[in-house]
Amino acid sequence: MERANIVVIGGGLIGLSVAAKLSERSKGIFVLEKNSKAGQETSSRNSGVIHSGIHYPRGSLKATLSVRGNELLYDLCSKYRISHKKLGKLTVAIGEKEIAEIERLKKQGEENGVPGLKMLEGKEAKELEPNLHSDRALLSPTSGIIEASELVNHYQSIISLNGAFVSTSTEVVGISLKKTGYELTCRAAGGEFNLIADTVINAAGLNSDKIAAMAGLDINRLGYRLYYCKGDYFRIHGAPPIKHLVYPVPKGGGLGIHATPDLSGSVKIGPNAYYVDKLDYRVTTNVEDFRADVGRYLPTVLDMNIQEDSSGIRPKLQGPGDSFRDFVISEEADKGLSGFINLIGIESPGLTATPAIAELVSDIYLDKLK
Ligand SMILES: Cc1cc2nc3c(=O)[nH]c(=O)nc-3n(C[C@H](O)[C@H](O)[C@H](O)COP(=O)(O)OP(=O)(O)OC[C@H]3O[C@@H](n4cnc5c(N)ncnc54)[C@H](O)[C@@H]3O)c2cc1C
Repeated sequence: MERANIVVIGGGLIGLSVAAKLSERSKGIFVLEKNSKAGQETSSRNSGVIHSGIHYPRGSLKATLSVRGNELLYDLCSKYRISHKKLGKLTVAIGEKEIAEIERLKKQGEENGVPGLKMLEGKEAKELEPNLHSDRALLSPTSGIIEASELVNHYQSIISLNGAFVSTSTEVVGISLKKTGYELTCRAAGGEFNLIADTVINAAGLNSDKIAAMAGLDINRLGYRLYYCKGDYFRIHGAPPIKHLVYPVPKGGGLGIHATPDLSGSVKIGPNAYYVDKLDYRVTTNVEDFRADVGRYLPTVLDMNIQEDSSGIRPKLQGPGDSFRDFVISEEADKGLSGFINLIGIESPGLTATPAIAELVSDIYLDKLK
């Protein structure tokens, strides 16, 4: 039977970045990805925003990894010429209640160590974005955008340069702990095969709870069960109405229907947030709902041509109506699975946090070897 030192399950941004980081110091690393190409699921179905870190409670993994990831990601983009732009973001408030909310976000962001946050009066915000309607806006200058597909390609090149492997069209369908290590049953084009690994890293995104269950963990008792929370996007056609990222105050399970210029300048709006039972990426939201939501702070879109774009599905630990849940990043030795590292519920700001998550998992792995 083939033997691996480390198997990473899932070739999205998280699995690839972790494998790339570990391959700097370790050999015998395999990434197993069920699709025919890496990065085709949540990693290519998102807003492509490099978040500053204002949205998450102090001390949470989401806060610390987003602030650290923001810094690391810009360095990485500059070093390897990955397309990106530090556009800056305006979170807009209309009315007293929303003003209080952006003041809370500013305070939380400062506690999280986000640099340069500034509260703007409505007319100052309008000087930056002439089409904007707001009473006040919070400027986060370190927010930006990135071409996520280039980041996927970057990590794949590092993995192969360092002698590790990404095996696509390879689905993990069984895991059992043996005396010799973790035996993984994999389904590939040529049929099923087994592989033994000393360390397993579960970065299976929307399936990460199922992988944890496959390894024998009680995902209900541990709070590892995922809920699918879908978000649709539309695109504004015509002259781009904004240059910055523009967000309303957060609402429901997402950050609110925001307006995001991409690297070509074209503006995507969304995502909304609604729970679904199945992975179905068809856009189902009525465009007029989006127009009304965005038109509140960007009235010019009320008369613009808006077309359906795409959707993504968040792997959420938080069910409908639940309060904040953090990422699960955990080595499961205390549950009888030494060398099994779970990454579950890596929703937003997972893209931003990618290099910081890789750093953290590498620390957990190296600590284990001591
Ligand atoms: C609508 C939306 C908007 C978002 N916007 C942002 C944003 O603007 N900024 C930000 O920072 N973050 C954002 N995110 C979050 C970010 O996209 C994710 O956190 C990140 O992409 C997660 O990457 P991943 O590798 O964990 O998951 P994925 O990309 O889903 O990768 C997991 C991989 O595991 C594979 N896999 C699953 N099961 C198996 C198996 N049994 N065997 C082998 N392979 C398997 C899958 O095929 C998949 O390729 C957004 C997410 C959504 C849904």
